[in-house]
Amino acid sequence: MPGNLRKGRSLTKFIDSIVITENGKNIDLVSLKKRAPKQAALMSILMKNHILDSYVLNNIFPEWKKYSKRPIEKNWIKIEQIIESFTDTQKLDKSTKGPKLNSEQKKAILDVKKSHTFNTFLLDGVTGSGKTEVYLSLISDVIERGQDALILVPEIGLINQINRRIEARLGIKPSQYHSGLTENERFITWKKIQESKTRVILGTRSAILAPFKNLGLIVVDEEHDISYKQQEGFRYSARDLAVMRAKNFNIPVILGSATPSLESFNQHVNNKYKYLALKKRAGNAKLPSMHLIDLNNGHSEDGLSKLLIKSINEHIENDGQILVFINRRGFAPTLICKSCNFITECSRCDSRMTLYLSKKLLLCHHCGYKKKYIKSCIKCDSEMIALGQGSQRIEDSLKKHFPNEQILRIDSDSTRQKNSLNEALKKAKTGKAKILVGTQMLSKGHHFSSLSLVVVVNADQGLFSNDFRGSERLAQNIIQVAGRAGREKKKGQVIIQTEYPDHPFWPLLFQGGYKEIVEMTLMDRKNANWPPYSFIVLIRAQSHRKKYTWSFLEEAKKILVSQKPDFSILGPVSAPMEKKASHYRGQLLLQSEGRKSLNQSLKVLIDEIERKKLVRRVKWSIDVDPIELF
Ligand code: ADP
Ligand code: ZN
Ligand code: ZN
Repeated sequence: MPGNLRKGRSLTKFIDSIVITENGKNIDLVSLKKRAPKQAALMSILMKNHILDSYVLNNIFPEWKKYSKRPIEKNWIKIEQIIESFTDTQKLDKSTKGPKLNSEQKKAILDVKKSHTFNTFLLDGVTGSGKTEVYLSLISDVIERGQDALILVPEIGLINQINRRIEARLGIKPSQYHSGLTENERFITWKKIQESKTRVILGTRSAILAPFKNLGLIVVDEEHDISYKQQEGFRYSARDLAVMRAKNFNIPVILGSATPSLESFNQHVNNKYKYLALKKRAGNAKLPSMHLIDLNNGHSEDGLSKLLIKSINEHIENDGQILVFINRRGFAPTLICKSCNFITECSRCDSRMTLYLSKKLLLCHHCGYKKKYIKSCIKCDSEMIALGQGSQRIEDSLKKHFPNEQILRIDSDSTRQKNSLNEALKKAKTGKAKILVGTQMLSKGHHFSSLSLVVVVNADQGLFSNDFRGSERLAQNIIQVAGRAGREKKKGQVIIQTEYPDHPFWPLLFQGGYKEIVEMTLMDRKNANWPPYSFIVLIRAQSHRKKYTWSFLEEAKKILVSQKPDFSILGPVSAPMEKKASHYRGQLLLQSEGRKSLNQSLKVLIDEIERKKLVRRVKWSIDVDPIELF
């Protein structure tokens, strides 16, 4: 629930409304334009609209206040305070026709249209295949029937792009619901939804919890994205809830992705989800070609190989845009002593501190702890050197190699301020910034029209992940980021740098593509009895004393065992990163064939353990279907 609603605040809010008077309607605009063009611009807007809420006018003419003084004095306009209404579903003037849909798109649309009752559709469409066009056509159909449509995207950064497309195509301003809004804006959307005064709702994860009345369709775009899972507090999967809510409303739900999650894919294999495929890129765009660069030959210490620099040059010469993807922010992930190998670690976590060279700072990404960067080793006084690359170091290297090009870094460090992400994305999309350096943030969903080369600086972290979802994630990340290249006229190319070119993952990905990885991984999961062939639950505990963490988990295990469970209980074990923010963390993993007895046992566990004194000493949680095992 939005905070203001929880606190029982009133929605009534007074806002300024600018009204044109009878005097104002009759002024001589032509002569005013000669004397005071800005005043004339303001008057001309109001002549057309008669009355405008200040926030609307802010959008059309941001400097209006400055030029409203004289018109108010002359009684051409007046400002009235009105109660903000939230009843308007903003109809825009025009809608435009979309591209002529291809046969795969038509089939997908027809299949969903035919289903007037609950059905889950897995829309498996390669990047740029026109999934969004499929959504738009279906949304328009739902609206015509007088129902609402909900579209979920995984990240705030993707809201504007799809918002624009909905406005342009359907001529309807979607109601937005996400954490980028103010408390009041969220409250208003919530109320609108509750009172059936919306048509199209566009939001991130939490929008799935809104009090819909009249839903006709739910779309979950990029359904594989882990952002759909809330991983703290009230843990829920918005994707799974979307399916549940669609079932309750008895309406279709579409899960769309170029890299479906194994869970969803398996539901299609089991004939629970209906499968819709878009195998080709829409229009004349082609899927990009992929190449590996072996970092063992001609390795460069700044993270960019010679071969890579050459390719970037070629793309610049051909007027293409380049996206350099790096999974880490900061300058370098490790600071190590040249002679004694001492590594600067966080004193509160089991982790290394990231170097921020320009700020002369060391920062722990896990707890936020900061330390001044000192050039010499505290153990032996030798020189400390930065090992590995973060986005800032890659940005610096690129600046050295390409001093004449505009380089734009987009990561969570560069986009802290409100609206800075949108501004940066705008700049990126015009193609003015020739080289983009970005983390995860840039890898998904975005459409850059002149982007022709995608570079994955280092894929090796993912190759040796100790999470059972490691290879699924790596494949998803690479295919998603690769999918940004060549989305329009320019043919795309993808270059991946690795120190392990012989790893079996590469031929699997290059020859078989995502499908092959999915099939292989599903087989592995089946053999090891991991999800989706079993259900898992992670019970996590943490405390500033290790013994409290462990006695809590032992106690929890005892309660579970006493119920003679038909599922297995693994642990307690320490979390992969045991110490975080001065807390010691441990976990129990439950693995089960079915959900029923698991859920029953968890209920008993919660009941019994909450009566123990011990629970006051630990922070603990139960995560059903965890997506990360730490
Ligand atoms: P996806 O959502 O699968 O990434 P989009 O719907 O964003 O794909 O489509 C990618 C690009 O191709 C967009 O610019 C879109 O307008 C265009 N497009 C989509 N469908 C067609 C089509 N049938 N013919 C021509 N262009 C299309
Ligand atoms: Zn040293
Ligand atoms: Zn830390």
